[in-house]
Amino acid sequence: MRVGDLSTLSPEYVRRIAPYVPGKPVEELAREYGLAEKDIVKLASNENPRGPSPRVRQAIADAVAGITRYPDGNGFALKTALATRFCVEREQVVLGNGSNDILELATQAFLRPGDEAVYSQHAFAVYPLATQARGAIGVTVAARELGHDLDAMRAAITPRTRIVFVANPNNPTGTWLTPSALKSFVAAVPRNVLIVLDEAYNEYLRPAQQCDTASWIAKHQNLIVSRTFSKAYGLAGLRVGYGLMDIAVADMLNRVRQPFNVNSVAQAAALAALGDTAYVEESARLNLAGLKQLMRGLDALGIGYVPSHGNFLLVRIGDAAAVYDRLLRKGVIVRPVANYGLPEHLRVTVGLEEENRRFLSALREAVGNAERGKS
Ligand SMILES: *Cc1c(COP(=O)(O)O)cnc(C)c1O
Repeated sequence: MRVGDLSTLSPEYVRRIAPYVPGKPVEELAREYGLAEKDIVKLASNENPRGPSPRVRQAIADAVAGITRYPDGNGFALKTALATRFCVEREQVVLGNGSNDILELATQAFLRPGDEAVYSQHAFAVYPLATQARGAIGVTVAARELGHDLDAMRAAITPRTRIVFVANPNNPTGTWLTPSALKSFVAAVPRNVLIVLDEAYNEYLRPAQQCDTASWIAKHQNLIVSRTFSKAYGLAGLRVGYGLMDIAVADMLNRVRQPFNVNSVAQAAALAALGDTAYVEESARLNLAGLKQLMRGLDALGIGYVPSHGNFLLVRIGDAAAVYDRLLRKGVIVRPVANYGLPEHLRVTVGLEEENRRFLSALREAVGNAERGKS
């Protein structure tokens, strides 16, 4: 017997959530447009176009032998390696099923219905999602030149604020905050408000821009630094990320975490990847070359973009929905970002040289020969 719309049984704050829209999978485009998968270029989800290193592929193959067993729920080996790398205690490391999981766990552990979480306009979509899923109130702070306005974010903190999210660099804008600006902000946030500093693209920063934010935790126990193996390490499909934080904060996240949230193959792969620093550095170098290639190509087309500190570029294209569709028909998947309040932009991930070339040539055809001024 049908009892009416069962969705009404769900809390109102859950029903209000706008679902996350992922990049279009290659298989889906192939199916829908009758294209061969090998002819499709996906530059839509900020993955490392090189994939994981050979050493990591071997570690994955070796780990498959053990998948009958549950993974180590405490992630001993990986946490030990991360603790050593960042000079923190093992108990300060929380592993996540992707760093999305870390963001979710922070909201689960610290947000009650009615609490507030502060984040920037055009910031990563998971912050509002994770906030709304707890029945908490998301406070969106207007961006400044598409980036975080840290002064305004500090001013938006009220006695009801429990978490403030900062993405550095930010996705989808590629904007970056200097270590000194960030440090002042962290010092200015009240100690009873958690700062979730999402550094998913940290490995793509130039060495001079990198900052050991984990070392700030000793002084600022309200700081969570979140990192991932999905981007520069090339392991997006395995889902593994981590958070570094004070032991008391980690203890709370571990209480709400699924006991086996990071699978055994992912743990083995991440451990091998962490040791393969040369591969990550080479990926970052190739990314800079790819960014330059894309910027040169866009300059030649008279198309504007936002200078990026990540492995992607936010391109200002005008009728983005139409251009997105025309690119799809040419077998090139990029990311529309209207849901980020950016209806005139598309986000394109830096690919291999040949993929970037494919994108630029498809884009040239997609925008036609119409006169365009620099945007
Ligand atoms: C991709 C991304 C993440 C995390 O992705 P995971 O695969 O869950 O680790 C987190 N934050 C930002 C800003 C991202 O772009």
